Amino acid sequence: MSPAPVQSPETAAPATPQTANAGWGADPRLMHDEPLIFEYHHEGNRGLALPPLDVPAPPLAQALPGVALRGALPAIPDIGEATVVRHFTRISSLNFHLDKGFYPLGSCTMKYNPKINDEMAALPGFQDIHPMAPEEGLQGAFQLMHELHETLKEISGLDAVSLQPAAGAHGELLGMLLTRAYHESKGRPRRKVLVTDSSHGTNPATIQLVGYEVVEIKTGPDGDVDLQKLKEALDEDVAAMMITNPSTLGIFELKIREIAAMVHGVGALLYLDGANLNALVGLARPGDMGFDICHINLHKTFTQPHGGGGPGAGPVAVREMLVPFLPVPRIEKRGERYHVVTPAEAPQSIGRIHTFFGQFGAFVRSYTYMRMLGREGLYLMSRRAILNANYLRAHLEKRFKLAYRQTCMHEFVLSGVEQKKKGVRVSDIAKRLLDFGVHSPTVYFPLIVEEALMIEPTETEEKKTLDHFIAAMEQIADEVDTSPAIVTGSPYTTPCGRLDEGRAARELVVRWTGKALP
Ligand SMILES: *Cc1c(COP(=O)(O)O)cnc(C)c1O
Repeated sequence: MSPAPVQSPETAAPATPQTANAGWGADPRLMHDEPLIFEYHHEGNRGLALPPLDVPAPPLAQALPGVALRGALPAIPDIGEATVVRHFTRISSLNFHLDKGFYPLGSCTMKYNPKINDEMAALPGFQDIHPMAPEEGLQGAFQLMHELHETLKEISGLDAVSLQPAAGAHGELLGMLLTRAYHESKGRPRRKVLVTDSSHGTNPATIQLVGYEVVEIKTGPDGDVDLQKLKEALDEDVAAMMITNPSTLGIFELKIREIAAMVHGVGALLYLDGANLNALVGLARPGDMGFDICHINLHKTFTQPHGGGGPGAGPVAVREMLVPFLPVPRIEKRGERYHVVTPAEAPQSIGRIHTFFGQFGAFVRSYTYMRMLGREGLYLMSRRAILNANYLRAHLEKRFKLAYRQTCMHEFVLSGVEQKKKGVRVSDIAKRLLDFGVHSPTVYFPLIVEEALMIEPTETEEKKTLDHFIAAMEQIADEVDTSPAIVTGSPYTTPCGRLDEGRAARELVVRWTGKALP
C-alpha cells in the first residue's frame, strides 16, 4: 500500500464552516488511500461555530475538582462537517460488512440486523435515561428488561436470567463463577471442568480464568461426544461440563439427556454454550435437555451489530438452585412495580460483573427483534436457519469434503483437504470469495477438522443470495482444479490485495504519529 496523501494546508479547505475538504475523489484509483481523520486537520475549520461568550465564564474549577480538569485541549482535528461525513462514509465502504454482502461466518451468526432495532434504542425515553436516576423514573426501562428476562426464561426453559454479561465469553465467565459459588456453598469448589474438543476457544480460556483445570473430551467419529471417554473423565472432582449443542460442527447432540444424567450423577453441573441459539429457539429448550446454566448471545441470535460493530450482551439463564448466586443489581417484578434487587437482599450473590444493569441498548435492540417476530416468527427463524444451512450443505458437499456426513443444524463444516493437495489452502479460498462480494466463512476452526471451512448462512438470506454463494464456491473449486494460481493470487477487486499478515500482526501501528508510513 502506498503512503496516504497528506493534505497540505494549501490543498485543504479554507477555514470556513461551510466548505468540505476535497479528500479522495480526484483520483478514484487512490480510494484506498483515504487519509486518516487527523490528516484532514486545518486550523480553524469547524463543523459548528458558537457565538463568542457574552456572559461571565462559569466557575469550572468550582464545579469540578482540580484533578478532573485537563491542562490542555485534546488533539482533536479541526474539520468541517461534510469532510467528517464523507471520510467515514468512504472508509465504511472500503470494509466488507453485512449491509454490503453475504457473510457466512460460521459460529458468528452474522445475520442482517434490522434498522428498526437502532431506531428503538435511540428513542429519547431509552437513550436519555441515566441508571442512577430514581427508580420511579426508570420503570419503563425496567419493564423492558423484565419482559426480555421472561422471554429468555421461556426460550431457555430455565428459571432465572442475569442480563449483566456484555458478551458470550463474559457470560461463560459468569457461568463458571456461579458454578464455583454453588460448589463452595456445598463445601468444596471442586477442581476440574470438562469441555469437548470441538468447543469454542473461549470455553477452555474461561475455565482456566476461574481457576479450574480444563479436561478435554474427544469427539467421536460421528461428531458426537464419546460417551466412553466421558465416563472415564467423570468423578467427584468435576465441577461442570461445558457443551455446545448443536456443536460447532453444526451437529445436534442426540445423547444429550444421557450426558446430562452422567454429569449430574457425580454432582456436577451441565453448562450450555448457547451462543448460537438460532438453531434451537422454539424447537427445543436447554432446560429440558438437562442443562443447568446457559449463556445466550443476544448479538448473534437476536440481532445486534457485532464483531467490531458494537457492544453485545450475553445473558445467562440458570436453574433454580443457582438463583441465590446471581449478580446484583437485577430487576424483579413485585406487584405492578419493578424492584431493584440490591446486594443487601442477596447475601450469597457473586456481586456485579458489569456496571449497572448491563448493556441496556443491546436489550432494547434484541427485545425489538423478538417482539417484531413474535412467537411464531422466532420459531420460523430457527427452522429457516437450519433449512438454509442444509441447502448450502447439499450443494457444496458435491465439490468439497463434508467433515461429518449428516444433516446439519444452523451451520456445517467443510474440509479443504482435497484442495490443499493442489496447493490451495482454505485461507486462499477465503480471499477469493471476496472477489464475488462474499465474506469468508470461518476458517481453520473447529480445530479438529483439517482445513476447516465453517459455513453459517443464517435465516436472513434469500435463496438468490445462497445460489450466488454456491456458484462462487463451484467456480473456485473449478479454478483450484484448472488454474490454482487464480485462487492463490486473489483477491483482485478489493481496495487492498494480499497484505503481509505476519508483519501486520507483529508491527502493529495503531497510533498516528503525524508521519506517513514508509
Ligand atoms: C461467539 C461464540 C462465543 C463467544 O461469544 P462472544 O460474544 O464473542 O464473547 C462462544 N461460543 C460460541 C460457540 C460462539 O459462537
